Amino acid sequence: MTFTNQLFINGQWVAPVRGGSFDTIDPANETAIAQVAAATAEDVDRAVQAARNAFDHGGWPELSGKARAGYLRRIASLIRDRQQTLAELEVRDNGKPLPEALWDIGDTAYCFDFYADLAEQLDAQQEKAVALSDERFSSVARKEPVGVCGAIIPWNFPMLMAAWKVAPALAAGCTVVLKPSEVTPLTALQLADIAREAELPPGVLNVITGFGADAGSPLTEHPDVDKLAFTGSVPTGRKIMQAAAAEIKNVSLELGGKSAFIIFDDSDIEKAVEWILFGIFWNKGEVCSATSRVLVQRNLYDALLARLVEEAERIRIGNGMADGVLLGPLVNAAQYEKVQTAIARGIEQGATLLSGGKRPNGHDKGYFLQPTIFTDVSEESDIWREEIFGPVVCVRAFDDEAEAVASANRSRFGLAAAVMSPDLARAERVARRLRAGIVWINCSQPTFTEAPWGGYKQSGIGRELGEWGLNNYLETKQITRYD
Ligand code: NAD
Repeated sequence: MTFTNQLFINGQWVAPVRGGSFDTIDPANETAIAQVAAATAEDVDRAVQAARNAFDHGGWPELSGKARAGYLRRIASLIRDRQQTLAELEVRDNGKPLPEALWDIGDTAYCFDFYADLAEQLDAQQEKAVALSDERFSSVARKEPVGVCGAIIPWNFPMLMAAWKVAPALAAGCTVVLKPSEVTPLTALQLADIAREAELPPGVLNVITGFGADAGSPLTEHPDVDKLAFTGSVPTGRKIMQAAAAEIKNVSLELGGKSAFIIFDDSDIEKAVEWILFGIFWNKGEVCSATSRVLVQRNLYDALLARLVEEAERIRIGNGMADGVLLGPLVNAAQYEKVQTAIARGIEQGATLLSGGKRPNGHDKGYFLQPTIFTDVSEESDIWREEIFGPVVCVRAFDDEAEAVASANRSRFGLAAAVMSPDLARAERVARRLRAGIVWINCSQPTFTEAPWGGYKQSGIGRELGEWGLNNYLETKQITRYD
């Protein structure tokens, strides 16, 4: 696979105006993988102009949904053809284990197919008659694409996060400028190459690599961008909302989380341990919806903790390319330091480090960290309140349902939550009382392209995935006639 060290603008690979570049690093061995172009405001302007032109004059929004679906299906099929190569690239760029990366890429392809179906359905659903109280008038409500979208994404699921935005935006008839994270830009560049091979019309998808301040910020401020779709941290989300406010741009935000997992004492210990481990150690805990706050009913607490530690200490740590590895390195030096600082602060604030917290033996290079379990965590401590975005779980005991729900809801975040109990009436009741956009019962983290995804409170605004994801990229127009 070759890397172009270029940006993808108007259907072509072009050098950045100022000629800047940066290295991406393999977090398993701290070596450079590739040199990537660093876009600046001039490049952003070129990309936005290409997207504007494709939207205003290129005929993309006027195509039928069925015709747009054809392009999306070609993209899905090309992603499947390259699944192994793309997954390996994701492992080297992000550090995740290969089986997880293969799953991500498969899901990325499925996302394009799913929105191809929705694009087709849009043809029949585009206009809907509206019954008016005055019979001299007739009216229709019509769905139309929002326009040019600036999509800015994080580094934890690089290609999948691109698909969550690009697929529904293209299905709706929007054109896109995608800015991947500077930490993991490689698969977004491959997506550009796939779009070129799928003969997507020039300017419909543009991919610019670069840093938040130099490339992301000018994209958010550009007057020709109609919509900003962002996934990332709360502080950056705040800046994006401020930039959107200047031009009253349509904005959707998928931000951080500190999700709770309530486990009642009638739960099966083995199942609870299995889902706790998956809920926090999948993708190294670098998951916005990770269930990083575990609340266990007191009767089960000691027995569950003992099993949890046993299983956590068995997790195989290593290079994501190696067989049997379940926990890869954290994504980069900055994230490694951030997580280690959070662990040190947890200890300083009085929590008990029950397991992990250190660099594992035999891994002198790379950003490796043991699966980490804290107990005796106060609700006021930073490790209980703040998103760590690493393989660190905090466990507390609770006595009754009301206390568990109140504790779970005491957070400025509201992305996800989980509840476990064989008493389904109780689990369903608790699920309805949790202030979060996603609630899992008797599991944690399964994510479906068909179901709405997004957060309450500071976890974001708007919903991605499913029909809600398509609506993110549609305006509703009223056309009323006097007969
Ligand atoms: P980040 O906010 O640092 O960066 C995200 C993106 O924003 C990157 O592409 C970055 O270059 C860009 N950016 C940075 N500053 C910018 C600016 N001033 N203007 C425009 N763009 C700018 O986040 P991250 O560290 O890449 O990702 C981790 C965060 O993402 C976590 O908080 C996590 O919870 C969140 N996340 C949320 C979801 C979700 O669906 N809710 C999914 C994945 C990740």
